[in-house]
Amino acid sequence: MKKIAVIGSGTMGNGIAHTFAQHGFDVALADINNEALQRAISIITNNLDKQIKKGTITDQLKIVTLSRIKTYTDLKQAVKNAGLVVEAATEDHDIKLNLFKQLSEICGADVILASNTSSISITQIAAVTSNPGNVIGMHFMNPVPLMKLVEVIKGKETTDTVTATIMELAKQLDKIPVEVNDAPGFVANRILMPMINEAVYALYEQVSGVEEIDTVMKLGMSHPMGPLQLADFIGLDVCLAIMKVLYTGFNNEKYAPCPLLIDMVATKNLGVKTGSGFYKYTVGNKELIVADRFSK
Ligand code: NAD
Repeated sequence: MKKIAVIGSGTMGNGIAHTFAQHGFDVALADINNEALQRAISIITNNLDKQIKKGTITDQLKIVTLSRIKTYTDLKQAVKNAGLVVEAATEDHDIKLNLFKQLSEICGADVILASNTSSISITQIAAVTSNPGNVIGMHFMNPVPLMKLVEVIKGKETTDTVTATIMELAKQLDKIPVEVNDAPGFVANRILMPMINEAVYALYEQVSGVEEIDTVMKLGMSHPMGPLQLADFIGLDVCLAIMKVLYTGFNNEKYAPCPLLIDMVATKNLGVKTGSGFYKYTVGNKELIVADRFSK
């Protein structure tokens, strides 16, 4: 396993590409959007600079890491000679199924096809491919270069050999893999997302304000970041997409996404990536400022 293809170069794709390249793999980073690819390289460069400042990597490793990453808008070119494809495209059922169908047609039978999906069924994704035993969930956490966990999701047909290979590979990236079975939201988002959705409900029902809700969870539960700030960081569109998967997957009202979350996504208040969510974000400002809509 020398070359890895990463499909989708947004929040997660750039972190996954960065991490594999830093650990010695050649990475083909692909996206349908050329601007997203350029943005990804600039984010990776900035994040490598931060690692140098902290003393966790050398200047030389930054240069080598960047030299290992090539960008592509052509899927076929990107996956050429890759032993593993990690899909990190938009959290959308149809996009993922279409991508895996294409990947199955253009990749060799021995290539492992992994998805970084937060919630979508690995078994359903695998079902559109001709080798479902080779399809697995490799769910990295955000920010990928820093977070230790990789949730490894076995679809109904994923083989034990493929699972063992991905568990081992995660360790090579200096991560700690945890094996889980396939169910909506797996473990991480089945627990995290209802908590975030409940925090949005508490705001929507005016139980308290943005900062107060986050402070309760930070100081009261020792969470490093409040749930509303975390939602901004993940992306409110991603949070909504995951809640919809839980809602339809379990067919249970308790997972209904909060109307405020739906409204914020419709108005493109997606959090850090659009500069505004529950808080507002301006380049260079490290202070946490509540978005105008929620300020008192
Ligand atoms: P994002 O919106 O930041 O980026 C998605 C990228 O995918 C975009 O650049 C888009 O152009 C690209 N894309 C869409 N369709 C494509 C296609 N057919 N081929 C190639 N590229 C395509 O999303 P994200 O937050 O990086 O999420 C990506 C995946 O990772 C999702 O499945 C999400 O659930 C999962 N995830 C997200 C987080 C998080 O904190 N944001 C954490 C863990 C997992």
